[in-house]
Amino acid sequence: MLVVGGGIGGLSAAFALAREGVRVRVLEQAREFGEVGAGLQIAPNCTRILREYGLLDEAGSLGVLPKSMVMRDAVDGAELTRLDLTDLERRYGFPYMVIHRSDLHAIFLRACRRAGVDLVTDARVVGYENLAPGARVRLADGRTDQARIVIAADGLRSVARGLLSGDEPVSSSYVAYRAAVPIEQAGRDVDLSEVSVHVGPGCHFVRYGLRGGEMLNQVAVFRSPRALAGEEDWGTPDELDDAFAGTCREVRTGIPLMWRDRSWRMFDRDPIMTWVDGDIALLGDAAHPPLQYMAQGAIMAIEDGWVLARQAAAHRAADGTIDWRGALAAYEAVRPEHCRRVVTTARAWGELWHLDGIARHRRNTLLRARDTYDYSFIDWIYGPTALTPQEEPPMFSPIPLDSADRP
Ligand code: FAD
Repeated sequence: MLVVGGGIGGLSAAFALAREGVRVRVLEQAREFGEVGAGLQIAPNCTRILREYGLLDEAGSLGVLPKSMVMRDAVDGAELTRLDLTDLERRYGFPYMVIHRSDLHAIFLRACRRAGVDLVTDARVVGYENLAPGARVRLADGRTDQARIVIAADGLRSVARGLLSGDEPVSSSYVAYRAAVPIEQAGRDVDLSEVSVHVGPGCHFVRYGLRGGEMLNQVAVFRSPRALAGEEDWGTPDELDDAFAGTCREVRTGIPLMWRDRSWRMFDRDPIMTWVDGDIALLGDAAHPPLQYMAQGAIMAIEDGWVLARQAAAHRAADGTIDWRGALAAYEAVRPEHCRRVVTTARAWGELWHLDGIARHRRNTLLRARDTYDYSFIDWIYGPTALTPQEEPPMFSPIPLDSADRP
């Protein structure tokens, strides 16, 4: 098998498949395997998979297990709603973790090495071709490679996606600034026992600890007026400062720490329900890049690899051969609908977070009325990853809470 792209999606899928005895080669365009960026939130639907892979303890030793997630209004700083992450772990059986993305990436890289995955860098794939059976990829330097199955985990601007759709990334006109700095640089008392999200008009601000509390991670996201005006040069640091000028002191004191030399313009794509073309399949952001408001992008990619590996195992005959067409069909039967829900819900959450005026006050009233222990809006996300469409839970259908479960 060939996996194109050595991000968190590609490496985690390569590891999952190697665990099932599949021979896997990863082709990564960069000179070295690595991840740029800062923190990642890893919800129970992913820590469950890390536990199964035997990687959760290693992740836990590098990450932080926060006690609560608190949403506040970015203008007046008032608390709107919270999740008790200790209770959440009790409900779903697995912890909510925050971890530096380079640490999680490195965990999968080491796991791939141990599992014997062939890891190739400097290999940019520019073309795909089905051979029936099997598929071939063409590299930028003219070389070719081929395998029984090709998994394209080549991210938001996936080349392989062009086989299945003529769509383009959709700009949200929002941009993210990040910072992961030693905690001493915070210059203020920060409660690292919580993941904190301040939501405001056209902006939000996320903060949590990393590396056992040695680092502070911050994400500042805002709508760019210049993007809305159709200008090329948008999302610049002056727009960052303007966007957060009207926020509460707690948020404003965090803004000077943001890295100003890089930013991430935020794109997603409209959902597509066909991810498989012959013996070539999409995975991760290549298939379903979301806006990051639900913090499920990397998680969905890890879930994709887990489902693919489980389906490969389920379609293995007594002589060890795998019915790959069957496995890919089973993968495609379950994953696109789940990811479609996440991608579209993330868009809706973004709209809710960024409301202004009377709508902002109405939102705040509704969020304040939410019971801390009401999980009806997240059960469908944080529960076990479905292997079949029948296992996929309905969205927002309240599962009665057992009051005895409350702390
Ligand atoms: P990528 O990370 O894009 O990896 C693609 C890989 O393929 C790269 O290594 C690239 O170099 C390689 N590649 C690309 N093209 C080629 C080619 N032609 N040939 C060979 N190699 C190629 N997700 C969460 O789960 N939790 C969070 O808290 C979270 N927070 C986020 C915060 C922000 C601000 C943003 C922007 C995203 C966040 N996400 C989060 C989303 C998450 O980062 C992505 O969904 C995830 O990294 C996607 O992984 P991937 O491996 O599919 O794609």
